[in-house]
Amino acid sequence: MAQPFSTDPQVLTGLPVAIDPDEVLRFQGYKKAVDTPSPEVLALFDEALALGRTLIAPRAVVRWLRVSRADSDIIEAGGVVLTIPGVDRLWGPVEWLAAAVCTIGDELERRVAELWGARELPLAAMLDSVGSGAVESLAEYVNDLLCQRAIPFGLPVTNRVSPGYGHWDVSEQKALFAICPGDSIGVGLNEACFMTPVKSISLLAAAGARARVDHYFSQCARCWMRDCAYRRTPATRTVHR
Ligand code: SF4
Repeated sequence: MAQPFSTDPQVLTGLPVAIDPDEVLRFQGYKKAVDTPSPEVLALFDEALALGRTLIAPRAVVRWLRVSRADSDIIEAGGVVLTIPGVDRLWGPVEWLAAAVCTIGDELERRVAELWGARELPLAAMLDSVGSGAVESLAEYVNDLLCQRAIPFGLPVTNRVSPGYGHWDVSEQKALFAICPGDSIGVGLNEACFMTPVKSISLLAAAGARARVDHYFSQCARCWMRDCAYRRTPATRTVHR
């Protein structure tokens, strides 16, 4: 079989982003099915969403690499060792690693800073949450793209993991950026291993014939790839486009 993936970094631009109101309100501290936002809050959300849409520039860089070593807490690819606690249990046997960096750019966070400076605090906070919802949506979309790319080769794709979440140390950003630098899309790392622009997400997923993907039904249910021939369950309302 032909090699399924190019191992060169690929820059993706013009990506779709769907901003889920429930997700944005969750960033604002609302709990779905418990809290009912007031009409004023919903109007503020509409205002922040309209403004946010003019300020986001979604883009991503993705790189596939063949896994050269996999142990209980170790994945090695491209000459870089990543230490991810429990990765073996989480992903099962994997043959390919996909690293990605996604961002919506820095215009939205600059506008948030201006609004804070002008003491327009409710709109500043809501716009910041819109940005968080947008970059989450972008990371989901990239995860779906990885799946769509790999599954025709009989390689199911795992869920994504990100440095600084769960048990994976944020200092591992350096290893992820060594595999997949963010500079081609304007994303850098500071000394504390946080990304700039702030509304950026770095992620890893993996693919393998026997990769552990028992989450697949929920993944397909919310996947953006409406016409995917490998879909295991119908898309629910969260498939935006
Ligand atoms: S519909 Fe399911 S199998 Fe198809 S790309 Fe999406 S997550 Fe993967």
